Amino acid sequence: VKNRFDDLIEAQIPLSMAHKNDPNRKVIAPTHFDRYALPSAYPLIVESAKGCRLTDIDGNEYIDLASGYGPHILGYGTPVAIEAISKSVNQGAVNALGNVHEIELAEVIADAFGGDTRVVLSNSGTESVIMALRIARAHTGKQRVAKFEGHYHGFSDQGMVSSWFRYSGAASSPNPISNSAGAQEALVKDTLVLQYGSERSLQRIAQHAGELAAVILEPMPAVQAGYNAQFLTSLVETCRRHGVLVIFDEVVSGFRVAYGGAQTLAGVTPDLTCLGKIIGGGLPGGAVAGRREVIETARTSNDPFVDLETRAFVGGTMSGNSITAAAGAAVLKHLRDNPQIYENLESKTEYLKTRLEKAAVEVGVPTQVKGARSVFSLSFDYARPTLVRDQMAGTNVKATLALSYYMRSHGVYLPELHTMLLNDAHSIGDLDIVADAFAESLSEMDSEG
Ligand code: PLP
Repeated sequence: VKNRFDDLIEAQIPLSMAHKNDPNRKVIAPTHFDRYALPSAYPLIVESAKGCRLTDIDGNEYIDLASGYGPHILGYGTPVAIEAISKSVNQGAVNALGNVHEIELAEVIADAFGGDTRVVLSNSGTESVIMALRIARAHTGKQRVAKFEGHYHGFSDQGMVSSWFRYSGAASSPNPISNSAGAQEALVKDTLVLQYGSERSLQRIAQHAGELAAVILEPMPAVQAGYNAQFLTSLVETCRRHGVLVIFDEVVSGFRVAYGGAQTLAGVTPDLTCLGKIIGGGLPGGAVAGRREVIETARTSNDPFVDLETRAFVGGTMSGNSITAAAGAAVLKHLRDNPQIYENLESKTEYLKTRLEKAAVEVGVPTQVKGARSVFSLSFDYARPTLVRDQMAGTNVKATLALSYYMRSHGVYLPELHTMLLNDAHSIGDLDIVADAFAESLSEMDSEG
């Protein structure tokens, strides 16, 4: 397999067009683009990764801006994880049995969130969400779930409702729509779709409270790279008042935006928190953390015959396996003991954001760069849409996809379909290379118009 992005550059796709209302203003708007658009058309096949660098099978090196979609907060191949993984492998790679490392991981997570937090381990963010929703249904005895437009909660049928590219109905009260063929229709219909930050959403929760087991959301929506603390506070108050559980999906933000998560920054405590990515230390892992009283609605295969009617089964042969748990615990302890990592990530985020914005202004391309605490998103737009449906509308998404190929030709891997995530291994020098690559990519995209 060859990385064929050169075809794309050679194809000279016209990317820049005049703004329809003002010919002097430019709009990045690719045409004839579709057949080049899919990431699968230009697969990046990696042979090795270290720190913030990837090497592909052709020997090309890239600075990586994906951090594996989140897990590698210390960079790829960090000795912190490698040592823990080797040790646990040599201890027999235990699973389906209580083991010292899963206890260690659960305790570190519980301590990070404080109070009487209890933890159930899973194998991924998707599994954490499935478990949390089931626990919420069992705990409340109610069936329906509310979620927010544009928030992704993994690939389960309900997690993908109105999550990415497909939206339906009025913005203020969207209709649920699946983002995957094959999703069970009844589950899709059983999902109430809300808008983050809107007062109307709180009213709709109150209206439907009698049927709602839980409201799930990304407290810091990844595509928006920011959070609304006042909204989170009001949401939790509304839900408490009406007997609806609040589930924060911190699969991305957990232990990334702060030690703890967005809830730590916002000072808001949900009933349940879904975790994944970082807590697996680079291996498949996940967890649901939450109030003891709610988590204890769950039962595992260790108590198969207890309260079948009222308790939610959560299982998984590899959940809490000793290798993932050892890696996760080692990475979390390292983050806990080195708080300057979070300060560095924040200052590096500001640095890169400023440099990207400056480059865009110099080339005269309307670009919105959003970045907070190592989470970045970038779109080609004059305005800064608040609704994800507006952000996803039109051709801008394609231009962002095209940008990722141009960046690759300058030695930077910018994830095509995901927010950018910095890690501890990025140096300022690496970020300078990224910013220069961005400036050059923009000029090239622009001149090909
Ligand atoms: N929740 C959020 C907010 C995510 O971004 C993701 C994955 O990107 C998930 C859940 C699903 O996690 P996983 O891919 O580990 O199943």
